[in-house]
Amino acid sequence: MKDNTCAVCDCELDDTRIAVKIGGKTVEVCCEECATVLREAEAAARAVAATAAHSGH
Ligand SMILES: [Zn+2]
Repeated sequence: MKDNTCAVCDCELDDTRIAVKIGGKTVEVCCEECATVLREAEAAARAVAATAAHSGH
């Protein structure tokens, strides 16, 4: 896995790269569109984790 590729679409990153903070770590994506995808994916993952934590009884 290369360091200089978008975390969402695997495009090569250039000067327009955007750093998105996800769960305490910074991930770089190629454009605002990919940043949105990443944030939504993280929000969904967080919602699933919250649901799992509350399914005790
Ligand atoms: Zn991308």
